[in-house]
Amino acid sequence: MSSVASHFADSYAEAREKFCASVAATGGSLRSLRNPTLGPDGGRLFMDVARYGADDAPKMLVLMAATHGVEGYCGSGAMINWLRAGRVASLPADTGALLIHGVNPHGFAWIRRVNEDNVDVNRNFVDHGKPHPPNAGYLAIADALKPVSYDDASLAESKRVIDAFTQEHGAFGFQQAVSGGQYSHPQGLFFGGHKPTWTNRTIRRVIREELSHARLIGCIDFHTGLGPFGYGELINVSPPGSAAFEMAKHWYGEEMTSPEQGSSTSAVVIGAVLDAFSQEAPEAAFCGIALEYGTYPVDEVLEAVRRDNWLHIHGDLNSTQGRAFKAYLRERFYPAGAKWAEMVWTRADETIGMALRGLASS
Ligand SMILES: [Zn+2]
Repeated sequence: MSSVASHFADSYAEAREKFCASVAATGGSLRSLRNPTLGPDGGRLFMDVARYGADDAPKMLVLMAATHGVEGYCGSGAMINWLRAGRVASLPADTGALLIHGVNPHGFAWIRRVNEDNVDVNRNFVDHGKPHPPNAGYLAIADALKPVSYDDASLAESKRVIDAFTQEHGAFGFQQAVSGGQYSHPQGLFFGGHKPTWTNRTIRRVIREELSHARLIGCIDFHTGLGPFGYGELINVSPPGSAAFEMAKHWYGEEMTSPEQGSSTSAVVIGAVLDAFSQEAPEAAFCGIALEYGTYPVDEVLEAVRRDNWLHIHGDLNSTQGRAFKAYLRERFYPAGAKWAEMVWTRADETIGMALRGLASS
């Protein structure tokens, strides 16, 4: 195994151990916020937050892994490689770093995109005091996406509904309907929740407690599942024309994409975790992107999510089918082998470098 790949992990427990050891070896301070649930092995689950630099550093680099649970294997490996490569040593005096490992530790440990409440954490940061946004497309296909049994007859029927929807709205219209976020089906896919999740409450606290002194925050939230294998797309979910959007354009250039401008592989999403930074650290200018790594074709990725959703509601995790579904999902969000891991790290190092140059020049 290459040394780069050796910093990636096979389980949440292994990832956490490697992360905490790397923080200790590089002189970071670490705080661990416990999630109230347990992992499949009965182990405890944490959002681990490592901090580097002066307590009052006005500029802060923030890296986040596992907003989407299983996608955390990617972000974890990237962060650990960044630490092991000694990059902390070259942070300027006015710049600190905050590495948030296990944003959604439950999904990370259980090999799921969602959290302990079947909530897509990255659709949960909406104002729950207001009516939740409707998703008419999802309503049309909700039942087809979640057949009661995963047998040939129900799959044929749901395929008929999905094919008809895709015929009418296009493949990207289908992706938008499924993955844009929905607030009507708590047991469905990409459900945004009806109240702030543990992750939502906890990360807001971390932002308030760790970033109140910051005047400029450059954040990278690691994701996987969209785009060409191993390529990291720089996605900006801020409204085009906003100050955050313009700053990101300045930092990352023309390769930065925008779902709202139609230039991204991602659907337009609402309630993203990055929205919390400006709300909880209003004194700081914020420049955040999602670094989205490709794995497999999007229809396979959505099918993996659909199988996992069915498995946890109707299936048996310990059955042959359950294990096969789980392995399918894992590969779709965390491809095995050193090649993908090496591509992840190379692109992560490059992108973090862009963020640091942006922090230095803004
Ligand atoms: Zn994601």
